[in-house]
Amino acid sequence: MRVVPVAQLADNYGYLVIDESSGVAGIVDVAEAGPVLEAIQKEGVELRAILSTHHHYDHVGGNEELIECLRPQELTVFGYAEDAERIPGITHPLEDGQSFELGSLRGRAIFIPAHTRGHIAYYFESEAAVFTGDTLFAGGCGRLFEGDAAQMRSSLGRLAALPDETKVYCGHEYTESNLRFALTLEPGNARLSARAEEVARLRGDGKPSVPTTIEIEKATNPFLRSDSAELRASVQTRVQGVADDDVAVFAATRQLKDNF
Ligand code: ZN
Ligand code: FE
Repeated sequence: MRVVPVAQLADNYGYLVIDESSGVAGIVDVAEAGPVLEAIQKEGVELRAILSTHHHYDHVGGNEELIECLRPQELTVFGYAEDAERIPGITHPLEDGQSFELGSLRGRAIFIPAHTRGHIAYYFESEAAVFTGDTLFAGGCGRLFEGDAAQMRSSLGRLAALPDETKVYCGHEYTESNLRFALTLEPGNARLSARAEEVARLRGDGKPSVPTTIEIEKATNPFLRSDSAELRASVQTRVQGVADDDVAVFAATRQLKDNF
């Protein structure tokens, strides 16, 4: 498998997922058709599927135009079954844990609600890669539009339970500002400082900060670190009355980030 990030809108990423053995590809999230069509042509692949993570316009807004442009070619459109009415063009609704094929690649849907109530990740176990949309970001997590802190914490927990070496491809380039926020809570986290420097270098060179890995995120992402004593103390100093439990610390961390 080869993954090509496709920059869309101001800071969105779609990802061309290429099965090199067959030349077949899928695209994770389509905000606009144009950049996806360009990427397909540049890579010389045949697009067979759209893999939609959630219904927001900056992730599915280009589905219909892309389908229209590629007609009469058959396109499979994946999305979460219970959110099918909000995924334009959906043809193959997926349940939690359901597997699917893309050329010779085999993927699986992981249900991770809270940013929206119908959000899924696309996990390719044999390729050690996961596409997390707006749930897990490099250094951060999505806003709680249709779920609460406990639900987001458990969705992130499902992703954090994947093998350490799993590459994480997220829906936006928010990493620099996410890490700036993270450093306000854990200035003593050496891995975090090193990661912030690495990302600043990448971005300075005009390169994406993705992919990150599950291991890097567990070491640096404040939303996976509610058990860090330093983070907990920082949060409890800034927000009044935060109880000494993981969900309360997580909720207060999310609240601080909303106002960062
Ligand atoms: Zn979103
Ligand atoms: Fe988004």
